[in-house]
Amino acid sequence: MKSQARVVIVGGGMMGCGLLYHLAEEGWTDSVLIEKGELTSGSTWHAAGQCPSFIGSYNMAKIHHYSNMLYPTLEEKTGTYVSWHGCGGIRLAYTETEVDWFKRVAGIAANVGFHMEVIGPDEIRKIVPYLGVDGVLAGAWTNMDGHIDPAGGCNALAAGARRMGAEVIRHNRVMDIKPTADGEWNVITEQGNIVCEHVVNAAGCYGRKVMEWVGGEAPFINMLHQYFVTEPIREFVESDEEMPVIRDPAASCYYRQEQKSGLIGVYETAQGTAEEAWAPDGFPAWESESELFDANYERSMPHLEAVLKRMPIWAEAGIKRVVHGAITHTPDSNPLLGPAAGLRNFWMCAGASIGIAQGGGCGKYLAQWMVHGDADINMAEFDPRRFGDWADDDYVRDTSFEEYNRMYALPAPGLELPGGRPRNTTPLYDKLNAKGCVHTLAFGWERPKWFSTDGREEDYGYRRNNIFEVVAEECRAVRQRVGVLDLSSFAKFAVTGKDAQGFLARVTANRMPRKDGGIVLTHALAETGRMQTEFTLTRWAEDDFYLLSGAACELRDLDLLTNAVEEGEDVTLTNVTDYWGVLVVAGPKSRDLLRKLTITDLSNQAFPWFTGRQSAVADILLRTLRINYVGELGWELHCPISKMAGLYDAVMEAGEDFGVADFGVHAVNSLRMEKAYKGWGADMTNEITPIEADLGRFVDLGKGDFTGRDALIRRKAEGVATQLVYVEVDASDADVIGGEPLYAKGKVVGVATSGGYGHATGRSLAFAYVDPVFAAPGTGLEIAILDERRQATVLAEPAYDPANQRLRA
Ligand SMILES: Cc1cc2nc3c(=O)[nH]c(=O)nc-3n(C[C@H](O)[C@H](O)[C@H](O)COP(=O)(O)OP(=O)(O)OC[C@H]3O[C@@H](n4cnc5c(N)ncnc54)[C@H](O)[C@@H]3O)c2cc1C
Repeated sequence: MKSQARVVIVGGGMMGCGLLYHLAEEGWTDSVLIEKGELTSGSTWHAAGQCPSFIGSYNMAKIHHYSNMLYPTLEEKTGTYVSWHGCGGIRLAYTETEVDWFKRVAGIAANVGFHMEVIGPDEIRKIVPYLGVDGVLAGAWTNMDGHIDPAGGCNALAAGARRMGAEVIRHNRVMDIKPTADGEWNVITEQGNIVCEHVVNAAGCYGRKVMEWVGGEAPFINMLHQYFVTEPIREFVESDEEMPVIRDPAASCYYRQEQKSGLIGVYETAQGTAEEAWAPDGFPAWESESELFDANYERSMPHLEAVLKRMPIWAEAGIKRVVHGAITHTPDSNPLLGPAAGLRNFWMCAGASIGIAQGGGCGKYLAQWMVHGDADINMAEFDPRRFGDWADDDYVRDTSFEEYNRMYALPAPGLELPGGRPRNTTPLYDKLNAKGCVHTLAFGWERPKWFSTDGREEDYGYRRNNIFEVVAEECRAVRQRVGVLDLSSFAKFAVTGKDAQGFLARVTANRMPRKDGGIVLTHALAETGRMQTEFTLTRWAEDDFYLLSGAACELRDLDLLTNAVEEGEDVTLTNVTDYWGVLVVAGPKSRDLLRKLTITDLSNQAFPWFTGRQSAVADILLRTLRINYVGELGWELHCPISKMAGLYDAVMEAGEDFGVADFGVHAVNSLRMEKAYKGWGADMTNEITPIEADLGRFVDLGKGDFTGRDALIRRKAEGVATQLVYVEVDASDADVIGGEPLYAKGKVVGVATSGGYGHATGRSLAFAYVDPVFAAPGTGLEIAILDERRQATVLAEPAYDPANQRLRA
């Protein structure tokens, strides 16, 4: 075994082998994969091997689709036999909201490139004559997917990687991993040590153990999952065609043909099946290899009965084999794909619960990230750093069980689930709850979403629903009077020291504020010019800066800033997220309200827009920033979080005369869409530079060198392939969420990234990336919302207050 490599991957399952293959394709052939047993001997060998195209997330759909395009060609590419069954799949819908979901995914399919049709019960019967369709409203028919023999696929990936020069070492356990003095990793194995630049945790169910060695986190648990294989079934024996994989939410099962037998896999929906996690209180047996567990018929019986009712041809066939194995499950069912927090060049490629379907695509996009510094798709929803300390063991267990139980449930937008809640609360949590606040989770923070002042509960779905009017009223309060919102969830950093100014000028793209109290909006870029994060940067002094970014960016931004400090630079970074609470006070009456609580001069002359002051409000010393994300006169009050309750009470009391009201982030979305404020993670992502995102005015190419500057200059000269546009949509009863395709002359020319209904303007609005040919204001396009084409017109300016008069009032 060699003693030095560029990359060492720990674990030879579908995820590790998928990565090894794609690293080699990207040119990183000096990579070694180490497997403690045989390849696939963790979860991979026994998986049912289904690879669905249908998935609710636009970015994850790209991963699945890539795998589905790769697997049928793997044998040809690698010379290793792969059994791929391109039988397609049908997912069943029993409710109108599920049908809406299918229509939404059909839009994703149009963008991503897989075929999907929403078909009726009769058409389902034509494809699967023996499937009962009572109560079934529709099916999502995807004919470019199927299932693969996971061991064959995994071995082919490994063989392909070897052919390109990568190395696979079997029967060698990694025992420990240690950082070296010069910033590399020493991987200690049974057969000796390898020093490497990058190490990857692809250890499947053992991934938590691996993180323990390096003091990192792997927020997942190992669920036990089983499928049943029947004796041969006459109808299958007599048919030359393989039936598609059926995914049935009523039974919470998948079922398909396995040769001439049937195969039924069950996601039990009963809550609290904690005994069905593998080694819930520790790491699974280290010696375990190709391990399966005894069948548990009792647990799955109600689900099996539901399948037999739906497809009676199974009834006569006995069960000949039960496969009961372990699967990793994260709190949101997405894998952990990307850098581990706080550990330089330590990557995660683990936590996959549909890892056969995802292994190919995850490998491709993680390899891009490792080799080029960025992937071609938005990786935020897979980045391991989307979880922080708040995702403790109890949280991970509760939510991972919940996710497992809900594998086939409708993931309606905005659905709030009880698992692990409440998480991090501010001192306002109980107060706001008592006022009907419905909270939502942002990086562990309970954040106000909307206020149910009459006790109503939301009817979740894809169309405007019974909280549409409630949110409209919250928007009216902000636009006409004054609204208050707890936005403590921002990530917050103090950057201090003699070199802080120069450091930030180098790391971010905009000009730095020239005066104390100045604020700028600025972006940190990769060397490729692509955006890594958005900061609101306030200068308190030449050596003292305050940075705000999105809640979910906290750990990513901390890594970004930490890794950017150069040797000898006098820069101190402090994560002050938990210290400062943030109360937004916004609306035309906000100045009148705050004047009652502070002696700070709030006039335009003394306290202009985009400046900050250290002041006292309601006798609390705090930081007051004249900025907001809703486009009104307003301030953010950053006060020690322990003082939040007193501040809130004082603000609400002072605001009584002005009709002060609480509002939540649903209203914020409506208000920011009217002002054409882009959202981090949706409209601004790691896939694009500020040029495509129409953020040129926040980039100062003349200020000297900064990370990504050369790439931006090149991009400007070359022109862009996609351009952000702001559109008004002639919507009916549903607005853009993100992921909808845009059409011109019948062809897909772009994708929507976010949207919403502007309650003050009465206009449905969206952001989208389109072919630049269609980006000119006034261009007429079509957008498919829930599979219905609506007119979309490119706007030249924000729908609300384009001259920013209200902000500067
Ligand atoms: C019954 C069942 C059915 C399933 N059906 C499907 C399906 O239809 N479709 C689908 O997409 N997914 C399915 N899955 C899930 C799928 O099996 C997993 O998501 C996938 O196999 C995970 O791959 P992995 O590479 O992350 O993990 P693994 O396959 O477990 O690979 C991890 C590897 O790391 C090795 N390793 C661990 N620690 C060390 C160490 N210290 N040193 C060296 N090597 C180490 C292990 O031996 C193991 O081989 C199913 C799972 C089960 C249980």
